[in-house]
Amino acid sequence: MKRGINTRCLHLEDEEIKNYGAISFPIYQTATYAHPGVGQSTGYDYSRLQNPTREQLEKVVAGLEGGKDALALSSGMAAISLLMETFNPGDHFIVETDLYGGTIRLFDNVSAKNGYEFTQLKCSEDDIEGAIRDNTKAIYLETPTNPMMNIADITKISEIAKKHNLVLIVDNTFLSPYFQNPLDLGADVVVHSGTKFLGGHNDTLAGFVVSNNEEIIEKLRFMAMTTGSGLSPFDSWLILRGIKTLGLRMEQSQSNALKMAEWLTKQDIVTKVYYPGLPNHKGHDIIKRQARGFGSMITFDLQTEEQALEILERVRLIKFAESLGGVETLLTYPVTQTHADVPEELRQKNGITSRTLRLSMGVEDIEDLLGELESIFSAISGRE
Ligand SMILES: *Cc1c(COP(=O)(O)O)cnc(C)c1O
Repeated sequence: MKRGINTRCLHLEDEEIKNYGAISFPIYQTATYAHPGVGQSTGYDYSRLQNPTREQLEKVVAGLEGGKDALALSSGMAAISLLMETFNPGDHFIVETDLYGGTIRLFDNVSAKNGYEFTQLKCSEDDIEGAIRDNTKAIYLETPTNPMMNIADITKISEIAKKHNLVLIVDNTFLSPYFQNPLDLGADVVVHSGTKFLGGHNDTLAGFVVSNNEEIIEKLRFMAMTTGSGLSPFDSWLILRGIKTLGLRMEQSQSNALKMAEWLTKQDIVTKVYYPGLPNHKGHDIIKRQARGFGSMITFDLQTEEQALEILERVRLIKFAESLGGVETLLTYPVTQTHADVPEELRQKNGITSRTLRLSMGVEDIEDLLGELESIFSAISGRE
């Protein structure tokens, strides 16, 4: 029987007592390795190629996503860039329109230059099959999307991908493997910004690519060795440590998110709340079917831009900062931060406005978080 996810956050299946029995996996802070003799190797030659601490982390993450293998890279963008390097000029991609801003910037400015073609669709609604061309090679999803929290049906899209021999890639950052496993739903590749929930402490950048497909894994390994964006031994250890409490953090931050989302829906100055845990969210039934939770990301619209800016100015316990998925609650302004480089027209199409804020709920006491927003909201409303 497969062990539970909290156990898999802490232990590998074939764990042995080694390294003097160290419970915390050692940091192999070494660039290179001595050879016992000519033509001999300990299995480790140079840390761009192999490093025991990074490999331990890769095994843990592969285990959490149910993948054959995982690669740990220096950031989420390094992971996505590496994956894109495994395709060829002339290849066409169908991609979700509401993606993390950095991913859109990569596709627009780097991948396009390499001769890739893109069709952007709202994958939760649009006709994906109709957009497939002779040179289409992959479909790229986020679900929930960043920041508008749209939910795509992974199983349904994986059937289209299989029928047309396309690689289905899912960025699983927002729910983490604790709540969602796209490979089990038919995806071929999962990517993560490990900086977010996996690391969980707003202190380390990391990224992952996970797959079950040997051919894809082989290409990724070759590219990682060649381009050199593997995660450092110390950062690998920090992410290993973060993952130990993944389940505890996901549960607490989700519980906070549910309460916050419900509270936000009752506020006069809030015109719309995007949280898939709310029963009236468009993707509520799909996420309930394909995931074990709703996560802790909430996007909401204010009545005016001034209100949004004032909230950002006034928060103190909640931090006005980019990023998400850590123990500290962060409030982001997508228009000038995470999605600043997304063309205005596309931002509008996706519904990201100057009245839109994004909350990443942390694990603080919910009363304190609500208390801060309550006093800010009443100060703002009182002045009208
Ligand atoms: C943050 C993020 C990324 C990029 O990851 P970095 O670690 O910041 O490079 C990619 N996808 C999503 C959904 C993200 O939130």
